[in-house]
Amino acid sequence: MPFSATGLPALLLNAIAERGYTQPTPIQAEVIPAMLQGRDVLAMAQTGSGKTAAFCLPLLAHFLQHQADKKSGSERVVQSLILVPTRELADQVGEQLRRLSDAFPHRPKLAVLYGGIAINPQMMHLRGGADIVVATPGRLLDLASKNAIKLTHIKHLILDEADRMLALGFAEELKAVFQLLPAQRQHGFFSATFAEHVATLADHILHNPLRLSIVNDEASKPDIAQRAIVVQANARTQLLKHLFQSEKWSRAIVFVATKYAADLVADKLRRARISAEAFHGEQTQGKRTQVLADFKAARVKIVVATDVAARGIDISQLPVVVNYDLPRSADDYLHRIGRTGRAGASGLAVNFICADAASEAHFRLIERRHQLSLTREHIPGFIAPDPELNNMQQTTPIDPNGGVKGKRPSKKDKLRAQLAMQQLMQEPSS
Ligand code: AMP
Repeated sequence: MPFSATGLPALLLNAIAERGYTQPTPIQAEVIPAMLQGRDVLAMAQTGSGKTAAFCLPLLAHFLQHQADKKSGSERVVQSLILVPTRELADQVGEQLRRLSDAFPHRPKLAVLYGGIAINPQMMHLRGGADIVVATPGRLLDLASKNAIKLTHIKHLILDEADRMLALGFAEELKAVFQLLPAQRQHGFFSATFAEHVATLADHILHNPLRLSIVNDEASKPDIAQRAIVVQANARTQLLKHLFQSEKWSRAIVFVATKYAADLVADKLRRARISAEAFHGEQTQGKRTQVLADFKAARVKIVVATDVAARGIDISQLPVVVNYDLPRSADDYLHRIGRTGRAGASGLAVNFICADAASEAHFRLIERRHQLSLTREHIPGFIAPDPELNNMQQTTPIDPNGGVKGKRPSKKDKLRAQLAMQQLMQEPSS
């Protein structure tokens, strides 16, 4: 199906061609016509599926229509609101909107609003209104309470990464935002996972939505090779250096569990003369922006990040993602590895599994959730000294009940596995 069959106007078809998109991704082919017709949409789609353009394009088409209909001299009102969970995602969505509307004779006024930076410039920018707003819920409410923004004319509301937004505890803020909006509006809810709280919210808010699940669609699945390497915990940085150099990775994102670990690992890599930077929530926004810019420009080769970076970063041609620490939840696994294999490029996701029963049990749960069964690799010089454990990790098939066949777990093993299970079931947080 060509883009021209989706019903988008010529100005946007030109912008799409300019961006080098030749045909709609599966989610775009479904969402664009539905949203152009004013239908609500509930779409489960992984990052990398083209979901951002799937909602940006119809919103821009609605903007063009509104421009054509409006009387000259009438005031500018916010027609479209896109709510996102993180600053990085807000910037990324804003950037897509900007690029797609760059060649319009009258470009929409965009406002990208999030916390962690001064509010005054945002208030100044909002003077005279805006056409399309991308915002995190908290800062949007702050601005609304200061009368810097009016949401009474919103016709289209998008929730991007709805699952993440609810997991990050934005439910109350969302409710408060909904109360500021007119009752008559179109909705597009996008979520990487179909968590129960997303379904409940959708049931309350959406009207007869087009329901889509692109998550398991082979055609839209990014091409990501996944590996699992068993390694002694204290040999992980060495292994990372070894892989980076011997496999000639051009760039990589390395995920760790804590801000402290991000700083430490980045520091160790720099001492080994690999240009590396940490990326985490305790850095200033300026620092984070700088690290991403350096990474995009390949001045930095490895970014060592906490899960704050797992969402919303769109770096095309990012070849490798490393789980130095395993993600806490199976959902986070998906979001982390989704940093690679984007826009049709192939990618590699490498998991470091520490040589202990808890790590193994934890990774098996992730495998089970994603119907994976990765061969455990052992690289000489980095493998665990415990031959029994090595043997178990090398040869044991996955037990559908979650246990480890062929080895009776000790009390300690059971406790560890229980802990791993609890961690996995916890809501992810950044
Ligand atoms: P997203 O899932 O929205 O994060 O998009 C992932 C990447 O796919 C981004 O780099 C987009 O620029 C790119 N992309 C979006 N739509 C298309 C398309 N129809 N053809 C090729 N690339 C696309």
